[in-house]
Amino acid sequence: MSGPARATAHASSRAAVLDVIRAAGTISRVGLINATGFTGATISTVVRRLIDDGLVVETGRAESTGGKRRVLLQLNQSSRYAVGVHLDHAGLTYVLTNLGGSVVARMSRAGVGAEDPPAVVERMAGEVDALIDGVGVKRERVLGLGLVSPGPLSPTSGMRLTPPLMRHWEDFPLDRALQEATGLPVVSDNDATAAALGEHWSGGVGGTATFAALYMGTGIGAGLLVDGITYRGASGNAGEIGHSCLDVEGPECWCGARGCVEALAGPAAVVAAARADEALARAAGLDADSRRHRPPSVTADFAAVTRAARRGEPGARALLERSARYLAVAARTLANIMDLELVVLTGPGLAIAGSVYLPVVQEELDRAFFSRAAHPVAVRLSRSAATAPAIGAAAMVLQSELVPLRQGLRLPDNLADSEPVAVRSAGA
Ligand SMILES: [Zn+2]
Repeated sequence: MSGPARATAHASSRAAVLDVIRAAGTISRVGLINATGFTGATISTVVRRLIDDGLVVETGRAESTGGKRRVLLQLNQSSRYAVGVHLDHAGLTYVLTNLGGSVVARMSRAGVGAEDPPAVVERMAGEVDALIDGVGVKRERVLGLGLVSPGPLSPTSGMRLTPPLMRHWEDFPLDRALQEATGLPVVSDNDATAAALGEHWSGGVGGTATFAALYMGTGIGAGLLVDGITYRGASGNAGEIGHSCLDVEGPECWCGARGCVEALAGPAAVVAAARADEALARAAGLDADSRRHRPPSVTADFAAVTRAARRGEPGARALLERSARYLAVAARTLANIMDLELVVLTGPGLAIAGSVYLPVVQEELDRAFFSRAAHPVAVRLSRSAATAPAIGAAAMVLQSELVPLRQGLRLPDNLADSEPVAVRSAGA
């Protein structure tokens, strides 16, 4: 099986069993006893209830190894669904996933731009309806809606301390408004953490115990998973590697610091450098003439620079490679601190330009990862880099509803009324 479920502290035996079945694909009751350490009687009771609830089905028998052939169990994939939404300045990405985290419907719509938050919420509610109705899924089978957006999250209400382009969202209680408009429970988190969870949930990282999803969208961040559990820090803002410093006298960053990875290497920095070079700007289609016909967007401009690099434009290639070297140093820092086994490159920026970044990051880790004598750090591109945050957002719902994990649970000081749901602490 993949996924170190045994090392994971689950809130209940039901959650543990469900997580092992999910990670294994198919597994027998004896396999569950071995994987969880529970007694045969416990497994028998828990599995019976999961079958009664329609979450798990029996699916044929394993090959005989001499004795009785064992009945195999698997998730009933179409018994429950979750909506994942990635909200960004540049675009809104929606996915509907089944219980196993597989995408059954996806949709991209215009970003929030300068639109008023209440108008965006109304539009989103309609788009979520269209997503669910489009594949004929019954509403009562949808567990909830996961919402992710660029961090950081503020500790008080889940509202964001927003990046510059989304300042007008700063005081808007988005998750509450969206919950009212859609009638679905809403959980929220930052996009990099969600992307990491999505990789884990969809089986993309196998049995890896410690890995990071290095995320490049409009900004740069990282989501961290330790033993299958997202590491969230005190306020859900762990992994902000994009705001580690690579040059103390470097350019000012919107976060208030200087010389941040994001300020030096993020898509906005690459686009600004390309635009400053007149010939390159023209070759990449970033000059005023070419851009007159589309709204200004860092994502679209970054894609244009990447296309120019692919066409062999040396200036464009050099800019991306310089950005990749900065990102590689950020990856090494993260790997050194967390003693990572795997770095997955993900997010819309790396969906576009990942093939330039991947070899540079791998080379840096092979050459200079501090613990390289003990083990290597694998680097690979996400299979769903563009939609990873939305898939992760849906996985947050599945995980919070079905596999509440003990770690991440924050008991209130008086220990009363605690709700054992990990991702809810982000402000649902
Ligand atoms: Zn910064």
